[in-house]
Amino acid sequence: MSNMKPLTTEQIAAYRQSIPAAKEGEPMDKHTSFRVGGAARLYVVANTPDEIMNAVHAAVNVSIPWYVYGGGSNLLVNDDGYEGVIIQAANREIKIDGETVMAEAGAITGLVARQTVAAGLGGFEWAVGVPGTIGGAIYGDAGCYGGEMRDVVVSVDAYRIRDRQRVTLTNEQCKFGYRSSMFKYEPHLIFGCTLKLKPSADVEASKKRMDEIMQMRKEKQPLESSSAGCVFKNVEFDEEKDLEILKRSIEVPQGMIDKKQISVGWLIEQAGLMGQCVGEVEVSKKHGNFFINKGKARAQDILALISIIKMKVRDDLGIELQEEVQYVGF
Ligand SMILES: Cc1cc2nc3c(=O)[nH]c(=O)nc-3n(C[C@H](O)[C@H](O)[C@H](O)COP(=O)(O)OP(=O)(O)OC[C@H]3O[C@@H](n4cnc5c(N)ncnc54)[C@H](O)[C@@H]3O)c2cc1C
Repeated sequence: MSNMKPLTTEQIAAYRQSIPAAKEGEPMDKHTSFRVGGAARLYVVANTPDEIMNAVHAAVNVSIPWYVYGGGSNLLVNDDGYEGVIIQAANREIKIDGETVMAEAGAITGLVARQTVAAGLGGFEWAVGVPGTIGGAIYGDAGCYGGEMRDVVVSVDAYRIRDRQRVTLTNEQCKFGYRSSMFKYEPHLIFGCTLKLKPSADVEASKKRMDEIMQMRKEKQPLESSSAGCVFKNVEFDEEKDLEILKRSIEVPQGMIDKKQISVGWLIEQAGLMGQCVGEVEVSKKHGNFFINKGKARAQDILALISIIKMKVRDDLGIELQEEVQYVGF
């Protein structure tokens, strides 16, 4: 059930007067990698930073809730949809100048990886298989295979909602952390970023690395099914004593202890929860941290499965899981 108040016809008419291109009743299952979610009451595709900003201001002016997203690969949208305006950041330009890369928020992350490698740059190969856009990757400090956004971002162009200021934030100001950034705590519209890469010593080796990564992803992740990638964040810990309960029932691989991070896929496998289903949602049998939509999954079922997994892992293994997936319309 959504707690969102239905928009009035007056609000909708006023919004559409400011943003005539706004669509009504856009199904969000079309726009999310989970293939789940009801309709956005209003929906705008914004092709420039100004269009993103105008779409947001128009909503604020008539007290309509708004939500900006990019590729929809990390979202769980309520079955009842979103009573407000969902704005897709679709400014997709990528410019490469020497070792500097300017990527707009809507640029597809995998395409940025391929284009930078083709331009003779190294350092972003890891991102080739990360679905979605640069805006989403900045928001959640996306990373894998030894790379993370925070390693390559020099600055982020954004719009701070609080004081309606356009800002250029340094890497430090973005406060990146594991699957986290300042943007999760202080609302901003992300317009794009500047990345600094290195000349590639061997372009063919970079291409080979990308192929290897794609191959490993296919082997380890259920890419043939609809999902939102990892549902939970891997578990970071400070001291080994935080794992006391876990270590009572299973042996924790030394690699995870050294890294001070427990893989949730592994935890879920140890807890015997792979293959667990609610309705048409299943914990992947290939990767325990992926939930797959077997066809007609509902957000409600995904929520129920999240709660079952969290409870079981907490009660049996003493570990509190936290969602990586972002909730929309709840
Ligand atoms: C098969 C699969 C594999 C995955 N593998 C990985 C992986 O290896 N590593 C990893 O880190 N992630 C992975 N993910 C998760 C996801 O792809 C990343 O988090 C990705 O960076 C999200 O980008 P997006 O554009 O789809 O974001 P969205 O899902 O559209 O949005 C995610 C969040 O970012 C915010 N946001 C997006 N754009 C903007 C903007 N312009 N301004 C303000 N806020 C914005 C949204 O409000 C939302 O809160 C995977 C997902 C799938 C489906």
